[in-house]
Amino acid sequence: MYTKMKGVIAKNPGSAEQLTYTEMPKPQLTADDLLIEVHAAAVNRTDILNREGKMGYVENPIIGVEVAGVVVDANQHADFQIGDRVMGLVNGGAYAEYVALPEDRAMRIPQQVTFEQATAIPEVFLTAYQTMYWIGHLAEHETILIHAGASGVGTAAIQLAKQFSQATVIATAGSERKLDFCRELGADVTINYKEQAFDEEVLQATDDQGADVILDFVGASYWEKNLASITTDGRWVVIGVLGGSTVKHVNLMQLMMKRVQVTGTLLTPRSDAYKAALSKEFMEQVGPFIEAAQIHPIIDTVFPIEEVQQAHEHMEANQNIGKIVLRVKG
Ligand code: NAP
Repeated sequence: MYTKMKGVIAKNPGSAEQLTYTEMPKPQLTADDLLIEVHAAAVNRTDILNREGKMGYVENPIIGVEVAGVVVDANQHADFQIGDRVMGLVNGGAYAEYVALPEDRAMRIPQQVTFEQATAIPEVFLTAYQTMYWIGHLAEHETILIHAGASGVGTAAIQLAKQFSQATVIATAGSERKLDFCRELGADVTINYKEQAFDEEVLQATDDQGADVILDFVGASYWEKNLASITTDGRWVVIGVLGGSTVKHVNLMQLMMKRVQVTGTLLTPRSDAYKAALSKEFMEQVGPFIEAAQIHPIIDTVFPIEEVQQAHEHMEANQNIGKIVLRVKG
């Protein structure tokens, strides 16, 4: 049996130029995994941090946390068979020809969904679902403020909030092109954070009440404006620190007065059991919407895996609307 494959590693921690697609050992099937021939993987900010050596929790030297492909080896007890099309979150190792995918979090790819579309689903849709519903407890007809609305997670969150919760969605982004796209996805109010004070716009759009839930990818630089934008008893879920992680002046009295719940979370270091439970519930709840083409993975660009450096640079330039995909096979 052929035991070699190609995969992407960072030669040294650093810029995208450190990425190389090179020969390495093929993963072996273990008791709890499926062995997947990868057709497509997708790029995430966590991959950039991993490339830079800033993440201590991914042990696999091969970069990438989500894949779509075909089962090429499975254990006898598995619910999946050789030849099945699956997508899911892996514990590193996605940018490669083969990867081990824990069986209990593998998700069947709906028939009409391509591999490139499928790989654009797990990380951002599971993150959006988990943070809005499990953590943010978004209820029907509430108002949610979604920052970075045209990002991979943002485009997933807008669709879920509209389809699932008939929520009022307020989205921010840094260009008219991105805001147009957010509106196409269903956002009710859009704010160009580079030209408008988003807190003033949120208050104007909510009769001075503020948003019930904030999905915050930006962190420190948005702290004051988020605090002004959230309603009493609001839930504020911090899931990214694109604008910095250290807040210099925090007025705890304002948090207490508004009874705000601020929560932070990261999906990648969550336990295997958590990811399995999340994947299962997601497919039960959202799978039918994807099958009916009412909710779509949003793809910005597909790069061949040999151009992985350009794919990372494209994300770092903040140019993408939705996901950046790596074509591995086909
Ligand atoms: P993405 O597609 O690369 O989009 C990120 C967008 O954020 C950029 O295109 C840019 O759009 C905006 N942005 C960048 N820097 C900004 C800043 N300083 N202030 C305001 N906006 C800024 O990202 P993604 O893959 O969807 O991920 C979005 C965020 O979620 C990242 O921070 C990522 O680390 C995080 N994330 C967290 C989890 C978790 O479990 N906690 C899981 C997945 C992703 P504009 O042009 O609009 O500025």
